Amino acid sequence: MLNRRLLFLSGLLAAIGLPLPAFAQEKLPVVASFSILSDFVREVGGERVALTTLVGPDGDAHVYSPTPADAKAMAAAELVVVNGLKFEGWLTRLVKSSGSKAPLATATDGIVPLKLQAGDGHGHGGGEDPHAWQSVANAKIYVANILRALSAADPAGKASFEANAAAYLAKLEALEGEIKAAIARIPADRRKAITSHDAFGYFAKAYGIAFIAPQGVSTEAEASARDVGRIIRQVKAQKVPAVFLENISNPRLIEQIARESGARVGGRLYSDALSGSEGPAGTYIAMMKHNISQIEKALAAGPA
Ligand code: ZN
Repeated sequence: MLNRRLLFLSGLLAAIGLPLPAFAQEKLPVVASFSILSDFVREVGGERVALTTLVGPDGDAHVYSPTPADAKAMAAAELVVVNGLKFEGWLTRLVKSSGSKAPLATATDGIVPLKLQAGDGHGHGGGEDPHAWQSVANAKIYVANILRALSAADPAGKASFEANAAAYLAKLEALEGEIKAAIARIPADRRKAITSHDAFGYFAKAYGIAFIAPQGVSTEAEASARDVGRIIRQVKAQKVPAVFLENISNPRLIEQIARESGARVGGRLYSDALSGSEGPAGTYIAMMKHNISQIEKALAAGPA
């Protein structure tokens, strides 16, 4: 609210020909819970937002301990954007302890969540899969929700947010086409892969490729020896061509599965976080392109 009043005041000053004070440049302070959401907020918000990301590049938002700086950013925020679907289990406490009064926008609102099968062996029976961003169709819903939240928090920016969102949605549309074309180039019987945690359920469903993971949809629980043994047998029996490392997970487990099953390590996928800006997955679009190129390279090629 303060923000809007300052903008109004600076408008008045400009109208009567006085020089604009420094606060005329003031941006909307927004907090996003993790790096992928931040990229969406940056795309839609552009120059009008001052963005703070809680869980940064290569960070694991399933298990995170907020810092005093996070609490400070939360207290100053005029909008907080979260994934929801119980992805950020630590967030409710942070909102409370920081005293934040900012509206909380849930970017997955309106998305049909993937249900986890009861008794999937990971103790998540009946829960919902939070990794909705792994389908580009869902990413478009994230963008629509963020557009709505930013426009409510900064109504003067509405037209600018709408223009940004439209341009970005066109890029997502093209991205979706590229992913589908790449999958089509992989022989149907080779469209299967292993990752360490179960982050690619939405990707699997949207694009027709099977992902198997020894760890459940959260990284909180370690994979049991029994789960790992089961996966190794499955890789051998179903001739799964490749196993993938993840940027947020320890590579040890995947390397063990590769060693004991004979599957090749197909590279590193970005599941729950972007890379740093110098890395191969500095934005959501770069991340999806990187992932699909790793997947195609590893699966389209003949037997190792
Ligand atoms: Zn995850």
